[in-house]
Amino acid sequence: MKLPSLEGDMFMTAAYAPSNRATCKGCYAKINKEELRLSNIVDEDHYHQEHHFHADCFQLKPAFKNATYKDIFHVENLSKADQEKVKAILEKLQKSEFKKKPQQKKQIQNQNKVNQKKIIDEDYKNTKKQSKKVEKKEKKLETIKKKSESSQNESDDEESDVFVLYDKAQKEEFRKIQKELEKKSAGQLKQMLKANDQKQTGNKGELIERIADCMIKGCLEKCPNFSGGRPKFNPIQKIFKCPGYMDDTEFRFCNKVFGPKDLKRIPWIDV
Ligand SMILES: [Zn+2]
Ligand SMILES: [Zn+2]
Repeated sequence: MKLPSLEGDMFMTAAYAPSNRATCKGCYAKINKEELRLSNIVDEDHYHQEHHFHADCFQLKPAFKNATYKDIFHVENLSKADQEKVKAILEKLQKSEFKKKPQQKKQIQNQNKVNQKKIIDEDYKNTKKQSKKVEKKEKKLETIKKKSESSQNESDDEESDVFVLYDKAQKEEFRKIQKELEKKSAGQLKQMLKANDQKQTGNKGELIERIADCMIKGCLEKCPNFSGGRPKFNPIQKIFKCPGYMDDTEFRFCNKVFGPKDLKRIPWIDV
């Protein structure tokens, strides 16, 4: 029996819930709109799974036992205070769930208890200092967030994330291609993506957007760092970031950031 390949993306994301539709996989209650949400995403070529959690209910996958909070996707879009919260949650889970990590044992052997207490005290002081700074910055961020939300609401229909990198002519072409592709079945669209070595998951609208973007800008190459992950677009920061990928036995974090023009675009092939 062949086991399904584990190649593909698996990653954690942090976000303020965009709606109140998701149910927490930890406590099975609804996650309110705007509430801090942590998610485990599996995103392979033929398979897509999203498990959402309240931040406090988050369940850490063993593959992420060595992750840092910066390995959590889009964490940089959160307020500084929430970034600290996510960091604390992750570290707490790693301590409680993966106690027997050999690295940690070594560390403990190398340090005597007095030293450890010092470190903890200093950490505590540092966090206190940081959180004061953070509060000021947070207010600024909130205003920026509100601004970007209201500008999103102004448009009649939901715009694709990729539009932030488009000029007017490209947007028009995108809409034209969208209309044409509507006539095709989801199966046909997936075939087209497969022929171009692109991800084939998502609903019909998402498939169409992906194809249209590839037709206009070219197909995004896989991450050149370990040639495993598929860099994902962050429309707020206008960057692409690679989540890394699952190789045979362990997750390889990448986190490499690319500017809009850094990644190669391979011309779309019609089939
Ligand atoms: Zn919950
Ligand atoms: Zn990468």
